[in-house]
Amino acid sequence: MVRVKTKLVTWEEIVEWSHGLAMIIRKDGYKPDVIVALARGGYVPARLLCDFLDVENLLSIQSQHWTEAAKAEEKAIIKYPYKVDLSGRRVLIVDDIVDTGDSIKLAYEFIVKNWNPLEARTAALQWISSVAKFKPDYYYIEVTDWTWFQYPWTRLEDTYQFIKRIMTETYKETNKKKWSFEEIVNGFKEWYGIDVGELYYREALRILEEKGIIVREGSEYVLAT
Ligand code: ADP
Repeated sequence: MVRVKTKLVTWEEIVEWSHGLAMIIRKDGYKPDVIVALARGGYVPARLLCDFLDVENLLSIQSQHWTEAAKAEEKAIIKYPYKVDLSGRRVLIVDDIVDTGDSIKLAYEFIVKNWNPLEARTAALQWISSVAKFKPDYYYIEVTDWTWFQYPWTRLEDTYQFIKRIMTETYKETNKKKWSFEEIVNGFKEWYGIDVGELYYREALRILEEKGIIVREGSEYVLAT
């Protein structure tokens, strides 16, 4: 049974969605002089929007989630709060998805306050309207039922985190520590309902081994506890 609602997003869909988003922005008559990619998820969509909207200037800003000590709540911060002068320029801030909305809201406020643009608007490929506290000016897909979107640029990171989760949770539930490659692949498909392909499973296991989370014993993978 699928435990986490997940959708595997292909490169083709990313191009299609970015093109669709560009069409919406163009139809609205907004012509940005500068696109700002919200790192890291906004990189690929921002680069494609530069292409589809014929924009030459591409900058980036990174937001990061920070768990405040003794608080369960996460807080978004601007990681490198550098300043640039964008006076007289129209800006478009781009991210892959607006989930909580914290990152894009923070980036928008930071840019308006510190980079002095003529105008700033926000865009994302997807907007989770049921949970987001911030609605971007432009989005291509409105998501109403929360889903984890497995984008092509986080495929390996997601895969090793997903595998780690399967192994640790199963250990808590059943004490199982040893897994064969096939068991891991089947577990992954069962838990997440997607298949990322052998290259990603093998690379993910290599990373988990490097991190000391698992140990290889012959052809089996053992959770290091
Ligand atoms: P935001 O604050 O932009 O709404 P979050 O801060 O919750 O989003 O998440 C920051 C980044 O984490 C997103 O830009 C995206 O790259 C990734 N992310 C968040 N939620 C999802 C999701 N449901 N599916 C895939 N990636 C996600």
